[in-house]
Amino acid sequence: MLNKTSEIISTAYSESRKTLLENEAKIICSEYGIPVTKFKLARTCEESLAISQKIGFPVVLKIVSPDISHKSDSGGVMLNLKTEKEVENAFHRIINNVKKYDKNAKILGVLVQEMVNPSTEVIVGGLKDPQFGQTLMFGLGGIFVEILKDVTFRVAPVTKQEAEEMITEIKAYPLLKGYRNNPPSDIESIVSLIINTSNLMMENPIIKELDLNPVIVYERGLKVVDARIILE
Ligand code: ADP
Ligand code: MG
Repeated sequence: MLNKTSEIISTAYSESRKTLLENEAKIICSEYGIPVTKFKLARTCEESLAISQKIGFPVVLKIVSPDISHKSDSGGVMLNLKTEKEVENAFHRIINNVKKYDKNAKILGVLVQEMVNPSTEVIVGGLKDPQFGQTLMFGLGGIFVEILKDVTFRVAPVTKQEAEEMITEIKAYPLLKGYRNNPPSDIESIVSLIINTSNLMMENPIIKELDLNPVIVYERGLKVVDARIILE
């Protein structure tokens, strides 16, 4: 278990929180070599403006609350904010939306992050199966998971060869290889992502569930845009 990871997990435990905040989950991902969007927690509107300047426009603002796990559902995500004025408005709108959604929700602030360019979306999941133990899931994002259930599983620890198999065996693999206007995705970076996630799950058996959804994959590299970790 690495430094920040164990600190975050013990803090969550001491506060009886089982679902980690997005910023906490992303720090853990970083510690395991998983690329995530640049981000910083803002506690006030002024802070969100200063951080936006530092990160560079456009930015994304998201609610940070231990009581809100599906941030969009609560009106807690505002994308593509291009100016200070837009950030300021979004900050207040997010707080209002979330208060309306759950008047008792404890709001810790807003996560300011870089707005990444759209590209192919994949998801990586980790879960602890009662029979097989830590298990990894991989698939393309969106309808491929929700409607077509085009996903594949391996019991961890996942080897490089197994990670490569996972990628090539999904039905949507031709999309990753490149198709019409879609450039090819960086397969090597997805292989590393799966292996690093497998390591993360194996070294922290207290993690019951992990969700990297979506991960945006480019011709070179990838970025995790949303991360969720649930403890046992
Ligand atoms: P939740 O899943 O909790 O509702 P997400 O963090 O996944 O919230 O945000 C919802 C959607 O907004 C994502 O699926 C993605 O399409 C988009 N999104 C979120 N963060 C970013 C970002 N940093 N850059 C670009 N798009 C983003
Ligand atoms: Mg999400």
